[in-house]
Amino acid sequence: MEQHYNPYDNVLKVVKEAADILGYSESDIEAIKHPERELKVAIPVRMDNGTTHVFEGYRIQHSTSRGPAKGGIRFHPDVNLDEVKALAAWMTFKCAVVNIPYGGGKGGVICDPSQLSETEIRAITRRFTAAIAPLIGPEQDIPAPDVGTNATVMGWMMDTYSMMKGHCVHGVVTGKPIELGGALGRNEATGRGVTLTTKNILRKMGLNTTATTVAVQGMGNVGSITAKLLHKEGMKIIAVSDVSGGIYNPDGLNIPAILEYLSKDRKNLLKNYEEEGIQRISNSELLQLDVKVLIPAALENQINSLNAKNIKADIIVEAANGPIASEADDILNAKGTVIVPDILANAGGVVVSYFEWVQNIQSVSWTEESVNEKLKNIMDPAFEAVWAISQQNHATLRTGAYLIAVKRVVEAKKARAIWP
Ligand code: GLU
Repeated sequence: MEQHYNPYDNVLKVVKEAADILGYSESDIEAIKHPERELKVAIPVRMDNGTTHVFEGYRIQHSTSRGPAKGGIRFHPDVNLDEVKALAAWMTFKCAVVNIPYGGGKGGVICDPSQLSETEIRAITRRFTAAIAPLIGPEQDIPAPDVGTNATVMGWMMDTYSMMKGHCVHGVVTGKPIELGGALGRNEATGRGVTLTTKNILRKMGLNTTATTVAVQGMGNVGSITAKLLHKEGMKIIAVSDVSGGIYNPDGLNIPAILEYLSKDRKNLLKNYEEEGIQRISNSELLQLDVKVLIPAALENQINSLNAKNIKADIIVEAANGPIASEADDILNAKGTVIVPDILANAGGVVVSYFEWVQNIQSVSWTEESVNEKLKNIMDPAFEAVWAISQQNHATLRTGAYLIAVKRVVEAKKARAIWP
C-alpha cells in the first residue's frame, strides 16, 4: 500500500478537472465536495466464544440532489472513513453517468467475514442495520451488496428494518434474495455491465472479442461473473486471481471449471486449484501481464505510482471501484493506455438495483430477459455518450464520464437552489 493514499482526494481531483472544462465556478461545485451526512456507529456483538466485540461501522450519504442516496455495504478489514466517503461519492457520479434517479451513498463495517461464523455475520448485520436505520429507507437511502456482503446479508438487513417498522419493507435494500423481492439478473448485473462495456470498447478500437487476451484480478461476485461472461463471448482469459494469488495459462484458462471449484465452498481458494498447464503468479504479476485487456475487479489503489509504469495492457476496464490511483492514471494516460472508468464500467450493478427498487415499490416483477435487455439499453447509450464527449474534448474516458456526471449533479443542485 502506498503512503498517504486518500481515495476521497482522488475523487475531488477528477471532479475539479471536469468542473473546469465545464466552466463551473468553485461555488458551483463547493457543495458536492462535502458528503451530506456521515454516520459512525458502534456495533456490539456477542461472539460465538461468549465474548463481546464492538465493531465499527459507517453509513455516508454523499449526495441526495438527484434522488435517494444509493450504494452498497462493505464488510472488510480495511474499511475506513475516507474509503467510504470516496465510495459514496463514486456512487453519486455513477448514478448520474447512467442517469438513474439516485444520489450516492455507501456503508461499511470494519470486519473480516472470512474469519467470522454465519451467526456472527448475521449479528453484525442486524445491529448495524438497527444503528443506521434512522438514515435508510426506500425514499431516503437504499443499501445494496458490496465487497464482503451478498444477497443473504441483504435479506437480513431487509428483515431487521422491516421488524423495526412493524411491516414488510421490500424497497429498503436491493440485491436481496429473489424470494424477498430481489430482481432476477441482479446477482450477475455488475459483471454483465462490465462485459457489455468491454465489448463496446473493443468495437470502438476495431478489435474482436474472439481470442482477445484478458486478465481478471479478483474472483468475487464481479470478477467471477465478468470472467464467465467474457469467456462465453470467446475471449481468452489467461489469468485470474483472488486473495490467495493468481493462476496463469497463456493458452487460456478453463473458466467454467475454476468457477465451479470456487463456488463449491466459500473457503476454496485459487492457490489450491489444480489444472494442467497453469502457472502460479502473484496479484502484482497478474496486473503486469502482457494482455490486451486488464480487468481489476478487486479493491481500490491496486494500480498506483509504484506499478503503473509496468502495466502492459492496452485497455483497462475498471470493474472495481477506484482500482487506479490518480498518479497512476496520469502515468497510464501518458502511455496511451485506454481506461474505461469505474463509474461507467461497473454501473450495471446499481442499474439493476434501480430496477429492483422500481419493481419493489410498484409490487411487480420483471423477467430476467427483460432486466438484461433494459440493462443493455442503459449501458450501451451511456458508453456511447461518454465516448462521444471524450472525443469532442480530446479527453480521457474518465474525464468524459465525469463531464456528463458532474454536469447532471451540479445542474440538479442549481435547479433545487440552496435551502433555505
Ligand atoms: N456496490 C455496488 C457498486 O459499487 C452496487 C451498489 C448498488 O447496487 O446500490 O456499484
